[in-house]
Amino acid sequence: MNFHVLTLFPEMVENGLNTSILGRAAARGLLSFEAVNIRDYTLERHGQVDDYPYGGGAGMVMQAEPIVRAYEALTERIGRDKKPRVIYLTPQGRVFSQKIAGELAKEEELIFLCGHYEGVDERALELIATDYLSAGDYVLTGGELPAMMMIDCIARLVPGVLNNDMSAEFESFHDNLLEYPQYSRPEEFRGMRVPEILLSGHHANIEKWRREQSIRRTLERRPELLKDAVLSKKEREFLDALLRERDGAKTPGPEESSESPEHPAETAEKPAENP
Ligand code: SAM
Repeated sequence: MNFHVLTLFPEMVENGLNTSILGRAAARGLLSFEAVNIRDYTLERHGQVDDYPYGGGAGMVMQAEPIVRAYEALTERIGRDKKPRVIYLTPQGRVFSQKIAGELAKEEELIFLCGHYEGVDERALELIATDYLSAGDYVLTGGELPAMMMIDCIARLVPGVLNNDMSAEFESFHDNLLEYPQYSRPEEFRGMRVPEILLSGHHANIEKWRREQSIRRTLERRPELLKDAVLSKKEREFLDALLRERDGAKTPGPEESSESPEHPAETAEKPAENP
């Protein structure tokens, strides 16, 4: 799979991606990362790539010309017929998720466009952007970090990139559950022992324990995920028991109102805000 990043800061992207697991996958030919310097495509003297916004306002806007020229040169090289998706990183986009990563991992080529300053001239986006993705509901100085974050997430779904293809399958968000707690050597650290079950060698029991820990952890930390969790009948019963336990623990005392918005069942079953 080939990732292309249109950016004003190519060294940031290249250094960030050609490291560790992704760097090794690139060396093995499973992935490639390319940062295209938008500044190389400006027609302005002195390498200018931004200008004041029409209508006034704070900051500078990245001009359309160098972005579109950089894109055209890139697609010419990739092969015009391939028509890769072009993702503009923006706080105004769909919030990136494991699900979106899975969808994008099916592509052969992906182009990411990183904005900077106050953003990008809208006409460049109208011409080349196919997707608008956000890292989350906050504003960063540029699209480079979100692009690297998304590329990292997508790349590790490419077959062969992780040592063990199973690792991605049992991680957080698989089945809409968070991952169970993990332990490594030694068996005892500062008086804290690894749960005995993990030392038992009984694979079926370990698997059951891990699934239950995942359910428990998801209920504690991200209860809204449970609405779409894929659970067996037994696991559903386990969750119901946890909810009852929590309901019981939080049963309002005589001085508390029973209409408290903190009521656990309401929290756990609340629909996701961002489906
Ligand atoms: N004025 C823009 C707005 O209000 O939507 C924000 C511009 S931001 C300072 C500069 C660039 O950083 C954006 O063009 C975008 O590429 C990137 N960026 C900032 N926050 C982001 C986020 N949450 N997700 C993805 N990209 C982001």
